[in-house]
Amino acid sequence: MRDEAPDAEEPGRGKKTGGGVAFRRVLDGAAGVARLLWERGWAERNAGNLSCDVTDIVPLGLADDVPLTPLGVTYPELAGRHLLVTGAGSRMRDVASAPETWCGVLGFSEDGAAYGVGWQGRDGTAFTPTSELPSHLAIHAALRRRGVPPRAVVHTHPTELLALALEPGIGDEVRFNRLLWSLHPEMVVVVPTGVAVVPYVMPGTVEQGMAAGRAMETHDVALWLKHGAVAVGEDFGAAFDLLDTVNKAARLYLLCRSAGIVPEGLSDAEVEELRRAYGPRSLGRTGPTSRATT
Ligand SMILES: [Zn+2]
Repeated sequence: MRDEAPDAEEPGRGKKTGGGVAFRRVLDGAAGVARLLWERGWAERNAGNLSCDVTDIVPLGLADDVPLTPLGVTYPELAGRHLLVTGAGSRMRDVASAPETWCGVLGFSEDGAAYGVGWQGRDGTAFTPTSELPSHLAIHAALRRRGVPPRAVVHTHPTELLALALEPGIGDEVRFNRLLWSLHPEMVVVVPTGVAVVPYVMPGTVEQGMAAGRAMETHDVALWLKHGAVAVGEDFGAAFDLLDTVNKAARLYLLCRSAGIVPEGLSDAEVEELRRAYGPRSLGRTGPTSRATT
């Protein structure tokens, strides 16, 4: 088993790919977002998990003696790739202070049907990936099918978004997105493709993973009804930005309702005007709209 850190503790002394600095940046990004999730109150106990495709920056190969864990589902899109993931039971507040202790790197077999632990962090014990691994794998596979660059995935429990999602009938995706867009122009600019609404599925199951993967074939953010939300981005910070923006719209709505205000918000025509100006744009491309602020 290769249990060698990808130069995480020796920034600037990376191997042939220069992985040291880049891998340190990924760990720091995980720590930064983990802290935000904890401070937001979106990561009670060990809720929330993170992953990032690090294939191009971690020059790890699985040694011949690394035990492989069958996935039960084959992901040809992940064959030979490496994913950094948070560990089972890890608390976001702990990831924030010691990401190298609570993260590991999985390497996938050449047929995409199994994984081995390529780097098990600094904890000194065998690394076990997050129980939400099926969803992370299905989402990374979906992103590969979309042909976008390696991406980070953030799953968390945004409080106001989850509260709003408990409203009966909210599972109507068209209605839900129209509501969110109407509340905040930033929501249209930052999430022009809207939020996918995924019906409740038992957390941690392959079935939830499949549902999560399907949602992310067309969206960058998904609400998992009665559970949480997930987003993808160029890095952990970009994925967090999407969740933060969606939750802000939900918070505005709940604040209005709790104050007795019936929010008027943007009209459908005003939302469409914004969408024509700023998106939707396909995942993986950036353009002038990416720097737009409202
Ligand atoms: Zn969750």
